[in-house]
Amino acid sequence: MKAYVNGRWIEGEGDFQVLNPYNNQQIGSAPLLSSQEVREVVKGAREGLAQMESLSRYERYQILQRTAQGLKQDSEKLAQLLSLEVGKTIREARGEVSRAIQTVTLSSEEAKRISGEVVPFDSAPGSGDRIGFYLRVPIGVVGAITPFNFPLNLALHKVAPALAAGNSVILKPASATPLTSELLCRLLLQAGLPPKGISLVTGRGEEVGEALVRDEKVRMITFTGSLDVGRRIMQGLGLKKATMELGSNSAVIVEKDAILSEALPRIRDGAFALAGQVCISVQRVYAHKEIYDDFLDGFIPLVREIKSGDPLDGTTDMGPMISPQAARRAKEWVDEAIDRGGKLLTGGGVKGSFMEPTVLTEVPRDCRVSSQEAFAPLVVVNPYGELDEAIEEVNKSIYGLQAGIYTQDLDRALKAARRIEVGGVIINDIPTFRVDLMPYGGVKGSGLGREGPKYAIEEFTEPKLVSIRFHK
Ligand code: NAP
Repeated sequence: MKAYVNGRWIEGEGDFQVLNPYNNQQIGSAPLLSSQEVREVVKGAREGLAQMESLSRYERYQILQRTAQGLKQDSEKLAQLLSLEVGKTIREARGEVSRAIQTVTLSSEEAKRISGEVVPFDSAPGSGDRIGFYLRVPIGVVGAITPFNFPLNLALHKVAPALAAGNSVILKPASATPLTSELLCRLLLQAGLPPKGISLVTGRGEEVGEALVRDEKVRMITFTGSLDVGRRIMQGLGLKKATMELGSNSAVIVEKDAILSEALPRIRDGAFALAGQVCISVQRVYAHKEIYDDFLDGFIPLVREIKSGDPLDGTTDMGPMISPQAARRAKEWVDEAIDRGGKLLTGGGVKGSFMEPTVLTEVPRDCRVSSQEAFAPLVVVNPYGELDEAIEEVNKSIYGLQAGIYTQDLDRALKAARRIEVGGVIINDIPTFRVDLMPYGGVKGSGLGREGPKYAIEEFTEPKLVSIRFHK
């Protein structure tokens, strides 16, 4: 692939390999840009801002509508590429492309609705001779740094609303999965985006990402990735705005009145989709002690049905993790849990990038499989007695992205909704539930700010006040 800088497709002085996590074979390469080149990129993006300013809301709407059409036309090509670079199953990859079309379409619609409001100046003493309003204006050059697990839809959750709001955007995809971004940028340009409205930079996060973060002409960083990198970015921001979509060790509570026939397959999917590499994967299950045995009796056979294998084979349920190192790290965490008294109920094995779907129980709370983000196909199931106790366990986490509760009791559901410290409580479903229009984001170590085009546009714009003094 090439990078796209200052309105031109370029190659780097060097490049880096992109591997297929399924068989470790090279599927492409990407330019290894340097921090010096980032300065040039930012210069182009500032010119891009002027180009974006010349577009009306309606023109931005049209460009994004045409981009959605382009994504539809290229959907199978995009799905195949996503499957190859992430190792996600072709079904998961097709699902990501459909969601990406939704994200762009929603952003295009929101482009039409960006507006300010009247400010009632004459409500302030001595301001009876003023009327006025504020507009919502683009924040400026936006740096968008994205993770490996959803290279298309998560890039679009940044790029599409930022463009809808009239900004210019510099996209820096994860080095493991940069290839889809090139197709995305080409589609945006074909749809009529001004040539410098988007830039695409590739290279090491610590160099290229960090240079974007530190550049004073970049007005905002929108980041999705791990807590450690998020923390580091926050330290380097200087005077710029940031949104942080970080990790989680998401939990679901299963009350004794839960409809297990609905809960079990959903929890299985929430724990093992994309080999557990979803920021809202189910990592912890708290099952009421009266149904705990029934839960496991139903759950373990369902987990054993999961078919791992070639992601491009339409019958495969679960592909590999992103790399053999990631799988080895997860295995170490499982071994630690077992050493500390946890029981392995199924799975646990690792081969190359593949990890078997793994279920543990009786794991001490401070073991890494429970207390940190596993980002692997594993889930810890523990029993509890009282709902208060389960809520306390859910909250004993550095993270707070989403949580789920299965119950038929409205009061209990609402108690969980009020008391669980997360960005979203999902009642009678898994924390992994997300549709692209909803406000999405976390509290505590899970981040700052919200995505979902309508909410992201709030983040990507700022109010500009106009006050008019008149003679009575
Ligand atoms: P990561 O290692 O944190 O990397 C994310 C991005 O940051 C990559 O583009 C990376 O570039 C870049 N980066 C690395 N070091 C940097 C630095 N010092 N300055 C600026 N940028 C830097 O995350 P990942 O492994 O790709 O993705 C998994 C993580 O993302 C998990 O924690 C997951 O929960 C989180 N996630 C969160 C959400 C959400 O919406 N909350 C959604 C999906 C994923 P390189 O690849 O070149 O290092």
